[in-house]
Amino acid sequence: MIYDSNYFRRFVEIFAKYLRENKEYLTQLDAAIGDGDHGINMERGARTALERLGSTNPKTPGEIMRTVGMALLSSVGGAAGPLYGTVFMRMSLAFGSRDHVEDKDLISALEQALLGIKELGKAEVGDKTMVDVWEPVVNFLKENIENGKTLPEICEDVVALAEECMKATIPLQARKGRASYLGERSIGHQDPGATSSYYFFRSLCEAIGGE
Ligand code: ADP
Ligand code: MG
Repeated sequence: MIYDSNYFRRFVEIFAKYLRENKEYLTQLDAAIGDGDHGINMERGARTALERLGSTNPKTPGEIMRTVGMALLSSVGGAAGPLYGTVFMRMSLAFGSRDHVEDKDLISALEQALLGIKELGKAEVGDKTMVDVWEPVVNFLKENIENGKTLPEICEDVVALAEECMKATIPLQARKGRASYLGERSIGHQDPGATSSYYFFRSLCEAIGGE
């Protein structure tokens, strides 16, 4: 399938909608094992991103992702701002100046984004962070696209896997980020960043459905 600038705008709008609708929920999750700002952070970032997309009207997928990345980097503090900022900046770099990308390009951009998250945050799978959703989902995407599947074909499975990985953070003890300060008391709570990452992949899939 072909992903053009309309697709990426739709993706950002859907992701922003999930972050807006779940601002309180994400904040409650973060209140349990962090400082209770993840929903506030992400909603502010998404709102700033939509404003910038509206005022600067970027034309290519790469420009759209860069606009969002810059908006997140400049408006969101804490851990999540730089981490999600890196996601969008790395994807922008991977797309370059192309006016559309294909499945394999989208997947390799997501791989670059995951590398960016891991370089910056130094977290591995099992540390109870957004990496617990990102790594298995990106690996699943990569394997399937390499075997000739298309993203639309596997989207339902991608969303189900992301949800499963998000829930699998509940029994883990946090080893990175603010939640790690709690030690064993971080066990029994779902990681907020894994939850916003679930919305990220769900939005990527839902944006395929059209307007
Ligand atoms: P802060 O922890 O600075 O208040 P947020 O509350 O916005 O920032 O984001 C917290 C989320 O960021 C966590 O739930 C976790 O998923 C993610 N996170 C924190 N530290 C790391 C890290 N080192 N690597 C990957 N993700 C991280
Ligand atoms: Mg926080």
